Amino acid sequence: MAEEAYWLGAGAEVRKGTLADFTALIDEGQRQIIADALAMIPRAVDPTVGGITERDQLSLQQRLDEIALDDEARSANESVWVGHVNAPLNEVGLSSALRWASAAGGHWPLMHEASATYRVVGGMSGFTAAIAADVPGDIRLNSTVTAVEHDATCAVVSLSDGRQLRAQRVVMTLPINAVDTIKVTPVLPDAWVRSNRERVASQGFKVWIKVRGRLPRFFAYASQHHAISVLKSEFVEDDHTILVGFGADHRAIDITSVEQVNAALGVWRDDLEVIGVAAHDWMKDPLSQNTWMTHRPSQLTRDLSELQQADGVLHFAGCDTADLWGGFIDGAIESGLREARLVSASLAT
Ligand SMILES: Cc1cc2nc3c(=O)[nH]c(=O)nc-3n(C[C@H](O)[C@H](O)[C@H](O)COP(=O)(O)OP(=O)(O)OC[C@H]3O[C@@H](n4cnc5c(N)ncnc54)[C@H](O)[C@@H]3O)c2cc1C
Repeated sequence: MAEEAYWLGAGAEVRKGTLADFTALIDEGQRQIIADALAMIPRAVDPTVGGITERDQLSLQQRLDEIALDDEARSANESVWVGHVNAPLNEVGLSSALRWASAAGGHWPLMHEASATYRVVGGMSGFTAAIAADVPGDIRLNSTVTAVEHDATCAVVSLSDGRQLRAQRVVMTLPINAVDTIKVTPVLPDAWVRSNRERVASQGFKVWIKVRGRLPRFFAYASQHHAISVLKSEFVEDDHTILVGFGADHRAIDITSVEQVNAALGVWRDDLEVIGVAAHDWMKDPLSQNTWMTHRPSQLTRDLSELQQADGVLHFAGCDTADLWGGFIDGAIESGLREARLVSASLAT
């Protein structure tokens, strides 16, 4: 096993530490941010119940600014949160941090472990293939929906190739940011129109980076204002190392450019040679326009329950509508099960 290293800070301020140094550096900030998670959201499955109704207008930055931290601890804590919420911290609701913390029982190391440590055995392709294998009906890939027209009894779904499908129920699973790419008649409920116009907070990126040589296992944190705030080794081989990086703003860097990614790593070390990058700018993908969803201040308590309400035969699922793990795959599954039960019950009556 390679040596472990933690690189903290940026530019001339960068220093190497141990896991214990790093944990000590962020512990106070992490604990204070999530200290009241269980008072704010006592049951993570009911994320709009509790003190959060009084504090949902706060951004994560506003809450961080209330906490006394020295510059290095502040910068490290802010970077940690960028890695989680993938948004500028003044644009993301405190609620997004508190939901994660509440789901992990208010314990920050467990929250980090639950959200960023484990991999799905067989990878996500194997996982989705297993879900698809359970579907008895047709799965139509590469079929872009352009319109949904519905009335009291059925819906007609129009595809970009001109085909139309008639259904008794439709479950729409688009991310909030992308729903306006479909013409829905009658128009979508207010919460969908409002939050789509406003956009959710998440707007960052994840990038895989291949660098020459065998590096020690490490975590590195710069600041929330650097293009890449968080960098971590994932796969260490003899002649190369695969890193993963996260940043708050997808516009700050072209994550498909070896040169730009190489330059961004320069804040930690100037001897790293990037030999490949793999990334998709999800914010620019018209069918997504989002990464893993985090809310802007007030969006959670204002919109979530309305986003979950069916509009006649048109139902809504997707991780943006989940109670427990909003923004996660678990939340997408949770919401799918929720709507499947409702559709099934309504068709049985
Ligand atoms: C870089 C990155 C890393 C992530 N890491 C994790 C992680 O470690 N763990 C985790 O739990 N989650 C992670 N997530 C979040 C996870 O991907 C989402 O929670 C999950 O994909 C949400 O599923 P969904 O079905 O709600 O939405 P989506 O996966 O966005 O599915 C919506 C689907 O609708 C399709 N669509 C959109 N418009 C149309 C249209 N007009 N016609 C037809 N189809 C359309 C899209 O192509 C897409 O397939 C990550 C996300 C990103 C971007």
